[in-house]
Amino acid sequence: AKNQGHGSCVIFNPSMVEELRYHSQMLRSLKRDLDLGQLFLEYQPQIDLATSQLLGVEALVRWHPAGGQRIPPDQFIHLAEQSGLIIKLGDWVLQQALLDLQELLPEFPNIRMAVNVSALQFNQPDFETKVAKALKNSGVSGQNLDLEITESVGVLGSLEVENKFTYLKQLGVTLSIDDFGTGFSSLSYLEKLSADRLKIDRSFVAKLDASDSGQRIVQMIIGLGQRLNLQVLAEGIETNSQLEELKALGCHEGQGYLIARPLALDALLEWIDQWDC
Ligand code: C2E
Ligand code: CA
Ligand code: CA
Ligand code: CA
Repeated sequence: AKNQGHGSCVIFNPSMVEELRYHSQMLRSLKRDLDLGQLFLEYQPQIDLATSQLLGVEALVRWHPAGGQRIPPDQFIHLAEQSGLIIKLGDWVLQQALLDLQELLPEFPNIRMAVNVSALQFNQPDFETKVAKALKNSGVSGQNLDLEITESVGVLGSLEVENKFTYLKQLGVTLSIDDFGTGFSSLSYLEKLSADRLKIDRSFVAKLDASDSGQRIVQMIIGLGQRLNLQVLAEGIETNSQLEELKALGCHEGQGYLIARPLALDALLEWIDQWDC
């Protein structure tokens, strides 16, 4: 802490400067690699838990800076959000995912491509028209696209958010609420919610084996989904007992390492051949 002499005290330490420098460097190289086309996507299968049928894949962005180690999205997505770069990054993700989707459509005409959309991106006034354009340019039907948004997009059920939902739904696009249970949606808004699917956050799935309270939360979300007529997808399924428990609780859909890790497009196509469902 450095005393400035007139009563104010600026908290200032070297590690914060280091961190700022590190982050601004990281952001610069992220920007550069995005421009150079050096980001890529992996796809994690989503299946019907009752039949094991492949329903869709979730696109997850990957960054491997030249000469360095892979940096996980948890470390750069929020930087991209803070700086606004997420808009450009999100545009690229959507376009790339729709491009890769075309490899899957001949064999799986009803498959859905789930794309993560950050709140900042979703709340841009031109977001929905961008989605419409991306669909048109790729020639893919909106019915093959699922957008994963979190409760942080704003008040779910509010007029503004609902208007976007309506527009997107007219395109055939479906909406999933990601990380469900970790946000702040009030029950009265949920009542009005016109999303299609709740994704149970993996922190709750992880607790299924261990505790009763974990099980109660999962049970509650599944019940809520049934009551509101929404699909429920559990993410982060890692063990057979979690899978069995989820099925017993009536969860429709799931994804997780037990089924498949996120895979590059080629590896996904191989996985699909072997899965054969
Ligand atoms: P998310 O949307 O909740 O994605 C699920 C994360 O859980 C992914 O981490 C996935 O690899 C991981 N995962 C899947 N199955 C399992 C499992 O069985 N066990 C465990 N421990 N983890 C599992 P990832 O790829 O590191 O992504 C982290 C987060 O970064 C995502 O969380 C999402 O919030 C964000 N993200 C990733 N790609 C994008 C993107 O294209 N756009 C935006 N806006 N955010 C993205
Ligand atoms: Ca997601
Ligand atoms: Ca999640
Ligand atoms: Ca997340």
